[in-house]
Amino acid sequence: MKLYLDPGHGGQDPGAQGHGLNEKDVTLDIALKLRTILQNDYENVQVKMSRTSDTTKSLSQRTSEANAWGADYYLSIHINSATSSASGYEDYIYIGLSNSLTAKNQGIIHEEVLNVNELKDRGKKKANFHVLRESSMPAVLTENGFITNAHDAALMKQASWRQKVAQGHANGLAKIFHLKRKSQPEPTPPIPSPGTLYKVIATSFKSRENADELVTLLHDKGFEAFVNSTTISGETWYRVQAGAFSDRSNAEERLTQLHKAGFKDSFLIAE
Ligand SMILES: [Zn+2]
Repeated sequence: MKLYLDPGHGGQDPGAQGHGLNEKDVTLDIALKLRTILQNDYENVQVKMSRTSDTTKSLSQRTSEANAWGADYYLSIHINSATSSASGYEDYIYIGLSNSLTAKNQGIIHEEVLNVNELKDRGKKKANFHVLRESSMPAVLTENGFITNAHDAALMKQASWRQKVAQGHANGLAKIFHLKRKSQPEPTPPIPSPGTLYKVIATSFKSRENADELVTLLHDKGFEAFVNSTTISGETWYRVQAGAFSDRSNAEERLTQLHKAGFKDSFLIAE
């Protein structure tokens, strides 16, 4: 999916102003955050931005660029202004469109952004804006609150709010274009801490042959047994192991059985 992402205004054009804020700064920050979300979280998304810093760019430059690039969607991010009492969120598509895919997409963006932005819903609207009219792909322009309203402007000053607004747009785009989430890296499974194992050793031998003989003898008496070689102080020993238990009392019971059966040298080790 190729998204042309257009933070409104910039450079010599500050856009709307109020409460110590410039529209161009708020729109740029939301757009940059949105680009990061899309690139980090979703597969197969290409984002081209009309600007990534505080630069001047005309409206016709923006739409020409999007058209030449062959964007699948044009998303323009703006901040509103009016009298101090006006507040809330609204979005626009081109005035000539109805019952179109563009209108359906607008509905999705509208719902997803309003889900997270804590702003009043002013509705889905249509207008004859340049970027909507001159872009050759479906286009939407969002007006993310009023810079002239105390409540909305206070939110705009919070980076966490701008992040939420970016996320809302990302959620809408993901829905429209069925974007596939990048698979999360598998968490490293915790290494199980090995519990103590109580091994019952019938005897240890320097000779493998003697160890094998004892295993045969143990088998004859009905005990499980096998030879387990180990190196102690540089020397190889052949241990005849006749059971291993995580529960110490079970190991001791086996040891008693071995002693009774005549394997008097049997002993326990804990590993
Ligand atoms: Zn604007």
